[in-house]
Amino acid sequence: MSQLCDRIQAVQDRLQAAARRFGRPTEDVQLLAVSKTRPAEIVAQAMDCGLREFGENYASELEEKSRALGDRHPAWHFIGPIQSNKTRLIADTARWAHSVDRERIARRLSEQRPLGAVPLNVCLQVNISEEDSKSGVALEDLPALAEAVAPLPGLKLRGLMAIPAPSDDFDEQRRAFARLREAQEDLIRRGLDLDTLSMGMTDDLEAAVAEGATIVRVGTAIFGARG
Ligand SMILES: *Cc1c(COP(=O)(O)O)cnc(C)c1O
Repeated sequence: MSQLCDRIQAVQDRLQAAARRFGRPTEDVQLLAVSKTRPAEIVAQAMDCGLREFGENYASELEEKSRALGDRHPAWHFIGPIQSNKTRLIADTARWAHSVDRERIARRLSEQRPLGAVPLNVCLQVNISEEDSKSGVALEDLPALAEAVAPLPGLKLRGLMAIPAPSDDFDEQRRAFARLREAQEDLIRRGLDLDTLSMGMTDDLEAAVAEGATIVRVGTAIFGARG
């Protein structure tokens, strides 16, 4: 098979090894291929290797690639910052949105989800690395946001997502992911029905699996370094 298939297999092998090491069933951890900046032909090649789930950060790329690959029906996950003028495209095109961090955006996605479509699966993006103020809801504001989003009819709130500050230290990586897991456990205790932790990328997927990731979002290890 192609080099691309080999790289995908190598990532699957990493996931399996991590699942075994940390006592997780391998089928509980799904690989999301992050195809941002890669052309539609590369996504098509990855589909030929057996992948179906792709993550995109930019609405314009999502629009372009979903049009180019429409008849092959990849499952698109939107993982980038969501601007309010892009919610309709995401509601029309994606199966998942991992990066919802404001109630207003959630309401728009719900209202704009086409009638008759299954609800859009949603993760709330949480800012678990307090020192920077990137995207994501603050931990103290998470319960209120989750309780506002859960009842929206066009959405299905599935869980939480985070992008921790990069670290080379495995234990530090684990501590960041543990904060997300604990936040999710807290929401479950409050009565929310959540089954998804979207966490882990090329450089920290083992630590994420150790802490309960159910979706890891991997770009570089599959497609190579971005230019
Ligand atoms: C780019 C990106 C990834 C993939 O990162 P890699 O280090 O290339 O695996 C995952 N999640 C999000 C939100 C991203 O923007």
